[in-house]
Amino acid sequence: MLGLMQDRPLLISQIIDFAAAYHSDVEIVSRTVEGPMHRYGYRDAQKRAKKLAEALQGLGIKLGDRVGTIAWNGYRHFELYFGISGIGAVLHTLNPRLAPEHVAYIANHAEDQILFVDLNLLPIVEGVWEHLKTVKHVVVMTDRAHMPASSKVPKLLCYEELIADKPGTLEWPVFDERTASSLCYTSGTTGNPKGVLYSHRSTLIHTMMASNGSVIPMDPDTTLLPVVPMFHANAWGLVYAAPICGAKMVFPGPKLDGASVYELLDKEQVTLSAGVPTVWLALLDYCVQNKLKMSSVKRTLIGGSAVPVSMIERFWKEHGAEVIQGWGMTEMSPLGTTTRFNRGERDLPDAERFAITAKQGRPVFGCEMKIVDDAGHDLPQDGSVSGNMVVRGPWIVSGYMKGDGKSQFGADDWFQTGDVCKIESDGSVVITDRSKDVIKSGGEWISSIDLENAAMGCPGVAEAAVIGVAHPKWDERPLLIVVRRPDAEVGKADVLKFLEGKIAKWWTPDDVQFVDAIPHGATGKILKTALRKQFEDYKLPTA
Ligand code: ADP
Repeated sequence: MLGLMQDRPLLISQIIDFAAAYHSDVEIVSRTVEGPMHRYGYRDAQKRAKKLAEALQGLGIKLGDRVGTIAWNGYRHFELYFGISGIGAVLHTLNPRLAPEHVAYIANHAEDQILFVDLNLLPIVEGVWEHLKTVKHVVVMTDRAHMPASSKVPKLLCYEELIADKPGTLEWPVFDERTASSLCYTSGTTGNPKGVLYSHRSTLIHTMMASNGSVIPMDPDTTLLPVVPMFHANAWGLVYAAPICGAKMVFPGPKLDGASVYELLDKEQVTLSAGVPTVWLALLDYCVQNKLKMSSVKRTLIGGSAVPVSMIERFWKEHGAEVIQGWGMTEMSPLGTTTRFNRGERDLPDAERFAITAKQGRPVFGCEMKIVDDAGHDLPQDGSVSGNMVVRGPWIVSGYMKGDGKSQFGADDWFQTGDVCKIESDGSVVITDRSKDVIKSGGEWISSIDLENAAMGCPGVAEAAVIGVAHPKWDERPLLIVVRRPDAEVGKADVLKFLEGKIAKWWTPDDVQFVDAIPHGATGKILKTALRKQFEDYKLPTA
């Protein structure tokens, strides 16, 4: 017997309509590429998203067509999120930090019809223009006054001109909720990037979970600063969740350095910020150097890489802000787990609370997860063993664009994340490593993440990365690579001494090498592939 409830489709346009109707004057504040700050409310944003949708239709965009964006977090990008998906076209967010050959590959693979690009990112399009096979129009996200006088790209269109004479009265079309809504390619550290194609249904269900209060706390008193880019897994879904919650949003534009982020946090009295650990490292150091406090920030959502316990401690002790750690991936829309305190846990002493936050978090309802061995058999979820993490649920990828990467899709919908994790009996997830980064020493595993996390707590250490290096006896042994804080004089012996008692003795790195900088990938993660290449000819003193 089927239920007798309405089968209304879940559509992204409903998000902006809701915000426009019920949080109409709540502000969206943007630092623009052109310079000045821009402010308006959700009602204005909806009107302009509709004008944009009308303009897209005028350019011939239909249901299912892909429209690319190469843009920072800002109000025009926000309008594109709703204007493109709202008419059933597919919003394809490209990461401007990718190598040019990947940008061209992705735009061609997705068959993008139009590219919208921020003014200062136009050189990326110009650089790959002759390789783009399907792009018919390039729209610069600015007004006439700022349009470049000349460009390698013929007949550039101007965003403000494109929408200026449109009425903004369009009624959003209604279509199947399983229609593709947006597209985001994985960073492609191994091989070509693969396309994750979200649907309206998956996005809405993910959004409703993210905004339910227990996952990412947001309400009309929240001022959110998503530093996590809108080209990276839909800014972790925040750009959809915040409008539903009636939260004010502050978009940082292209400036993500400590000083610029601090200025926004302070001027706009941000209460919740979100981004990857590297951004916060820069900000925390900027605050120390300039004796500043983030006075309004209550919480910071951090994910994309493991959050060192030293960072959790600094946010709390130096700024009174609580860290929420999130784990997930582009293929998971991206939320899998977030830090959530169970009843009574908030009253625990600081160190115990920090230890909970240093885990990757507890499962978000709707995302099932388990760990399996290499043969695919279930492993115990009592924290005793690590295994391959597999996940399934209504916002988990079921296949990549055009059938790429088949091997990651197992039986019964279980998607292989490529992460090696423990799951504890209360559901807490503790990531050991990416399976390709785990260090195999004498038949046992050493977690590079745990070592990095411990080393980051050592005074004088700004950043730490660990890779496995070939060893004749043990197969692989850990090499710790460290960037010193400015003016710090910390040496190998200091770091190794600091690690004593904090890690298993046999995990102790065989060597510590100091470098000026550690390479990061397009989404802020430490680029282990590049580090391994850099230390290709390096021999461990113990080998
Ligand atoms: P995102 O960075 O948005 O989470 P990506 O698809 O770029 O998405 O990367 C996903 C991978 O990043 C995960 O498979 C995992 O290895 C790593 N990752 C994400 N969050 C965390 C975290 N909190 N701790 C450790 N690793 C993480």
